[in-house]
Amino acid sequence: MAGYDMLSTIRQKSQSGQRISADEARYLYEFASDEELRQLATSVKSRFHKLDEATYLIMAIVNYTNICVAKCDYCAFYKLPHQTGTYLLNSTQIYERIDRVLDLGGTMVGFNGGFHPKLKIQDYAKIFSGVRERYQDEMQFYGMTVAEFMFSAKLTKMDYRTAAKHLREHGSEWVTGGGAEILADSFRMRHSPGKYRVADYFEAQRALINEGIGSTATMVIGFDETIDERMQHLTALRHFQDSVNGALPSFLCWTYKPYNTALGGQEVSTLEYLRWLAVCRIYLDNIPNIRTSVLTKNQDALMGLNFGANDFDLPTEDEVTQKAGATISLEFDRILKCAQEMGFKTVHRAPFSAPNKTKSATTKAGADLSVTI
Ligand code: SF4
Repeated sequence: MAGYDMLSTIRQKSQSGQRISADEARYLYEFASDEELRQLATSVKSRFHKLDEATYLIMAIVNYTNICVAKCDYCAFYKLPHQTGTYLLNSTQIYERIDRVLDLGGTMVGFNGGFHPKLKIQDYAKIFSGVRERYQDEMQFYGMTVAEFMFSAKLTKMDYRTAAKHLREHGSEWVTGGGAEILADSFRMRHSPGKYRVADYFEAQRALINEGIGSTATMVIGFDETIDERMQHLTALRHFQDSVNGALPSFLCWTYKPYNTALGGQEVSTLEYLRWLAVCRIYLDNIPNIRTSVLTKNQDALMGLNFGANDFDLPTEDEVTQKAGATISLEFDRILKCAQEMGFKTVHRAPFSAPNKTKSATTKAGADLSVTI
């Protein structure tokens, strides 16, 4: 009976546009039926989007280096500096990767490497300004993750504000909210104690936003995190989004791939993913775009469109997740047809507009943009 009352209360709150509490979100995840979650998530989604449309874009994550000293135990990608098989792409190699994405119809590239012990903020600024100079408005670029930004700023001995300003002055428009995984310090201490603490992560993201660089929100589930830790992540994120007046346009939740990692484990089921995605949509009532992960769930991710998601990527490469077991298909028509057969009109959308668009990239055309370290 108590369970019935709780569900009624949550339903009333959600349908009248009120916020639900963390306890209520947790209750939904643990006890609501799949159908109940689907309906509630769809109801919240309808505040922002047409229910018969699904938007997508074609994009790549270009992994410019695999050298990293953070040693996260859930990562199959990184190499320590002294190990064999390390790389740092030069500008020619980066451009080749971007050209490939362009040829495949891509409109967005995110850069993601590791905690490289020698790459300073000035090096990133040089790389990204070269990319901006070469491609202008042909594509949208997400320069690095918040986590990489934090590490590089510390390495450079710059405070976050100064580091963000430097990137901005050299043409950077976006960073991704990547490297977030689970934003709970207990999780971070178990699996990546050298990476960052949660308060520090948000301090860095706030500095970036304050300096006019756009950012996004992400989450990864399926390690060994508890539901409490997942809720800490969502609660911190919702609070942060309120505090920056809704600056984060999107939230992407993907699933941990356990292969070739020190942590190991098993993948979460599609049903668990869909149920969690629904909770994210219902609880994160201040983030308009909830994105489902084709990268880690392939076409099963499209079922997320019935559990609150409105948008997805068609990725062309991401070595980080591919090393851990993700498989990428370039049969875009086949994937889109799946969404269409579910009743969605698929719309190829433009990348989100940068918060303060700049045309300034400070390098000269033809300059050598390779970073020497
Ligand atoms: S997840 Fe990122 S920060 Fe952690 S070890 Fe891998 S590359 Fe480094």
